[in-house]
Amino acid sequence: MMGSVTFPDGTTIPALGMGTWTLGDRADRRAREIAALRAGLDQGLKLIDTAEMYGNGRSETLVGEAIAGRRDDVCLVTKVLPSNASRRAMPASCRASLRRLGTDRIDLYLLHWQGGIPLDETVEAFERLKQDGLIGAWGVSNFDDDDMAALSRLAPAGACAANQILYSLDYRGVEFDLLPADRRRGVVTMAYSPLGQGGELLRAPVLARIAARHETAMGPATPAQVALAWVLRRPNVVAIPKAGSVAHQRENAAAADIALSDDDLATIDRSFPPPTRKIPLAMI
Ligand code: NDP
Repeated sequence: MMGSVTFPDGTTIPALGMGTWTLGDRADRRAREIAALRAGLDQGLKLIDTAEMYGNGRSETLVGEAIAGRRDDVCLVTKVLPSNASRRAMPASCRASLRRLGTDRIDLYLLHWQGGIPLDETVEAFERLKQDGLIGAWGVSNFDDDDMAALSRLAPAGACAANQILYSLDYRGVEFDLLPADRRRGVVTMAYSPLGQGGELLRAPVLARIAARHETAMGPATPAQVALAWVLRRPNVVAIPKAGSVAHQRENAAAADIALSDDDLATIDRSFPPPTRKIPLAMI
């Protein structure tokens, strides 16, 4: 069963979605990537994460093509660059994203990371876009606990819906403070790079060992599915793996079938220990 998480205003969004960084960068892969996103939607991965930065708009354009005719089926997340997060520039950035995405509404609009524009001005610009109906909700990305505390002092209560951060088995530092604090604030955590960008993490022997204990609708579980099920074990957390093929999207969607046991989690902890002190938020 595909889970969901709830924003402070009661809106629910899918807990498992699709990242799109680098999608659209190569013309020879375009058709395959569009097919991959459509297959993901067919399998229930109804949240798509993109950004105006990705390929300088190419990722948003590709997403627009992939969701054409099924916009209402998708929870659409995109991000504004810090340099565009001002009262003046944000509306133009938002409209440019909407054009590329081929829609009149972004479900969740995030500040990609904090830059030089004062945060209160960014909050004001987000709130204006929300009032105008161009976005359903807004949030931030790459904000550590002190940044979130500062934001909560100047934004209306419950206004910031999400914080998108690096969270995976090999980056557990946020479990010490940021994850529980965001949960208390009612802010949804979106875990980016949950597969360790498809590198060393997926070759960790413990993931193969745990995978061997589980089945999904697609057959025996895989290390990638265990890495995703591990992120999704926490309430209030969304995972947005990126996949460029139909096979990987299907595999990732089936991760929702896996419920890790206490014993699985304890075994994983021995290879990827939880933090015992504050570790500053890492960023890719
Ligand atoms: P991920 O951890 O999602 O890993 C993506 C890599 O994993 C790709 O190489 C992909 O290969 C591979 N992969 C996908 N599915 C499988 C599978 N089932 N088995 C084996 N390998 C697999 O890395 P990302 O950095 O892309 O993070 C996900 C998304 O998070 C981004 O695309 C972006 O939307 C967002 N993000 C946000 C950031 C921010 O600052 N807010 C920063 C970084 C990411 P293939 O393509 O061949 O399928």
